[in-house]
Amino acid sequence: MNLSEIAQFRQRQAAEEASARLALNGPAITASHEAILARMEQGASTLFQLFQQGRSEEAYALWEAGILGQEYNQWRETSMREQQLLHRTQTSVGLVNIAVHGHFYQPPREDPFTGMIPQEPGAAPFRNFNEKITAECYRPNAEAGNFNLGPTLACWLEKAHPEVYRRIIEADRFHHNALAQGYNHVILPLASERDKRTQILWGMQDFRHRFGREPRGMWIAETAVDIETLDMMAQCGIQFTLLAPWQVKGTFDLTEPCLVRLKEGRCITVFIFNDLSGAVSYDDAATADANAFAASYQRSYLNHDKAGARVPQMHVIATDGELYGHHKPFRDRFLSHFLQRSAPAYGMSPCSLERYLEACPATKEMELHEPSSWSCMHGVDRWSVGCACTPGKSHWKDALRCALTQLAERADVLFEQYAGQTLSDPWVARDDALALRNGWEIPERFWMRHGLTERLDVAHIQQAELLLEAEYWLQCSQTSCGFFFEDLDRIEPVNIIAAARRAISLFWLATGYDLQRRFLKDLEQTRSWRTDRTGVDLYHALPVVPENLLPPQ
Ligand SMILES: [Zn+2]
Repeated sequence: MNLSEIAQFRQRQAAEEASARLALNGPAITASHEAILARMEQGASTLFQLFQQGRSEEAYALWEAGILGQEYNQWRETSMREQQLLHRTQTSVGLVNIAVHGHFYQPPREDPFTGMIPQEPGAAPFRNFNEKITAECYRPNAEAGNFNLGPTLACWLEKAHPEVYRRIIEADRFHHNALAQGYNHVILPLASERDKRTQILWGMQDFRHRFGREPRGMWIAETAVDIETLDMMAQCGIQFTLLAPWQVKGTFDLTEPCLVRLKEGRCITVFIFNDLSGAVSYDDAATADANAFAASYQRSYLNHDKAGARVPQMHVIATDGELYGHHKPFRDRFLSHFLQRSAPAYGMSPCSLERYLEACPATKEMELHEPSSWSCMHGVDRWSVGCACTPGKSHWKDALRCALTQLAERADVLFEQYAGQTLSDPWVARDDALALRNGWEIPERFWMRHGLTERLDVAHIQQAELLLEAEYWLQCSQTSCGFFFEDLDRIEPVNIIAAARRAISLFWLATGYDLQRRFLKDLEQTRSWRTDRTGVDLYHALPVVPENLLPPQ
């Protein structure tokens, strides 16, 4: 969108909001319809002029002060209050239940060395994509549907937009609609057993910290699973997850969660989202009208036998949460209208997965294809050796994964050796280090739990903390986004290489060991098929850092 289109888009948005408000509840906003529209239009044109004159800082300030959105915000606030009331009265499970699950996630955008998010020109008029998506999507969707909120995004949202963040947390208190997420969005079937455990435990710690309760469900990156992953989740106390229909073997009833048998008598419950999830994601017409959607949904998907026998059924639609409002303008209102009005009007009760499971525990069993995922039809090849899901030559994926895996293996040996001098069990300490890293607990308490002895000297503590931070960045270097797309020479692979460089720096500072030389040797094997640049070229193009932070080359 260019600036003019954005201004026009906001005008249309304002007009639609005002009409929706008037249509639903009459002119509850004090000003008349026309006056509201006139003011919105004037606001949009002021903003547009400021951008044209290059006065973007003033435009941002006006935008944040709500130049276009006084009435919009009033409408939204009223709508949110109505929704809260609605949810408070709907804690019991109905006969036909529906959950719309949104996966809210953004990869970390901070520079690993400075912690700052660079300006992202494509996100104008916002400073970066996090800001843009918050305005278009997280803010309006704060209380709608089921969701998981990726920890890296939650961290950012908490600081940058505390009011949106608070609304999301508040919503979960009423209907337990939040799920935890594997922490760094790592493809878990490709991770070592130790890393799987860390990812799951960090995700659970983050959830406890934010929502103040124990997580029962967990969303897994790209719904990529194998039995080992699910078993690790069950061992850590996770009770359920969501998967795509094509991850299940044989025929099954979509309206009922089922158990998957795991090792040593353990099991986990799996909700299967229905094939309409794809239509909601990619077919504009499907989500143009919430009432029509509810009507056709009921016709096509209702389990009439269960309805006749008055047995509860559960329908799950899962999509990228950013769809509602960001990828598809206005669809945040599709979602809220659908859940608040259309679904109940057609006899469907919005219900959280957790509440449903409390009332109707799974009894039947299902078997899974494994490894499998929701966005690759070749198991998890998209993130390992590459596959036909992305165009071009994807062998760079294999080479990049090898380079990162070997870096992690060498680094882990150093971590165990050096951190083992200070921590009673370095791996248990790593699993528990999120609160220390994020300042959620005082360091003394962490060291009381994990220190090898009661008397530790400061130098050893500092070294161990550098090593724990290095392990954190190694986990970041496995983020799935780095392997998702078609080519190496893109921001996503560059970001995971930057995370690896940060880990290399921290190991260098903590131990004096040079992990950079071998890593660069391995990166030579990775090459972009579009630009011919290698991973080494990308590494050298990263922002310059002070010389003493990295081994000499
Ligand atoms: Zn594939």
